[in-house]
Amino acid sequence: MAFVTESGFRHPNQRVVFRQIRLEGTITRRQLAQTTDLSFQTIANIVSELVDMELVVSDGLVNQSSGKRAESLKINPDGLYAVGILLGRSGFEANLIDLLGHSKRRIVRSLSSLQPDDTLRVIADVVRDLVTTTNVSRERFAGVGIASPGPIDFRIGAISQPPNFPGWSFVPLQQRLEDMLGCSVSLIKDSHAAALAEIWALNTDAPSSMLYVYISAGIGGALVIDNRLWSGFLGNAGEIGHVVVGDGPKCDCGRQGCLEACWSLDTAARKMQVTVEELINLLTNRVSPYWDDWINGVPLLARAVVDVVNVLEPEVVLIGGEYRSHICSELVSPLNDALQREGFVHNLRPIIVRLATVERAASIGAGLMELSSALTSVVGTKGVVGLEI
Ligand SMILES: [Zn+2]
Repeated sequence: MAFVTESGFRHPNQRVVFRQIRLEGTITRRQLAQTTDLSFQTIANIVSELVDMELVVSDGLVNQSSGKRAESLKINPDGLYAVGILLGRSGFEANLIDLLGHSKRRIVRSLSSLQPDDTLRVIADVVRDLVTTTNVSRERFAGVGIASPGPIDFRIGAISQPPNFPGWSFVPLQQRLEDMLGCSVSLIKDSHAAALAEIWALNTDAPSSMLYVYISAGIGGALVIDNRLWSGFLGNAGEIGHVVVGDGPKCDCGRQGCLEACWSLDTAARKMQVTVEELINLLTNRVSPYWDDWINGVPLLARAVVDVVNVLEPEVVLIGGEYRSHICSELVSPLNDALQREGFVHNLRPIIVRLATVERAASIGAGLMELSSALTSVVGTKGVVGLEI
């Protein structure tokens, strides 16, 4: 029994008011009326509905300019929960998040074999474990969002022809998990989920357009255009790892010289004859020659970023991903330099490269997508995905 069938928003203004409260943190009814163009009486009615649904609660009384005191409102973090999963090559991470997008409990599982049947069974067990050990009631559980490396086909809820997931090609993982758990499940590319988490965290400071560069074993990306994630027709937009950056080795995609084949953790690990996990440890500790080799390859990343920036002219470029805090901060400065030197549109208005702010962004973003779709029944249409809440 999915939450959406019971208590999702019943009319669009509930969403408008809920979103405004979330963006503001705390707000009175009168301030809501001033910032939403809805009448005070309409606001009062909608707030009453949202309080009944336990999505909004009182935050006490505040002084107003009139001298009277008014009730301040805030989102009830316990109003709804979801689990976000990040599927990786050697296991997965599961994050139970509340209605504010805060992680309540996280479980990381390494798996010796990543066969679909076994993996989905373990994921289902972990989701049940997260929900029961935190005493989340069935009525307050929205469902599960899965962030996965691409390519995916979100129409059928499957990973399609994944180079590093043998046996997973077109396995209907979304449907299988829904059958196992009896709740809603959605699928999104890992880089896209990370970008959604970033938009959510930046709140009213979120840029209206951005390129998110997602560093994991490979290199992914996400495009935000006009405050919405551009997911692409099947959910794979923003594959910056497959921009050709020079004469390089053949890529898994079949082309020659893709960024990912020339410069990525996967490529570097193969070259250095270590595992990706070992390489991350070496890079985190800035061990030579591993670190020098990594940082010397940044101009290749810059070449791809400059190309995408010239095509899209986003407001900002964010660098993040699974290893955001380990290895990404040193990429910011050389990328800014490259854009200044080579970016055509950069000359018109500087485009700033920044470090993404959210740790474990992909699993949190996947959970947020599930919360949003449970409340609004909107997952994504015509290639555009937004957090409607
Ligand atoms: Zn490629």
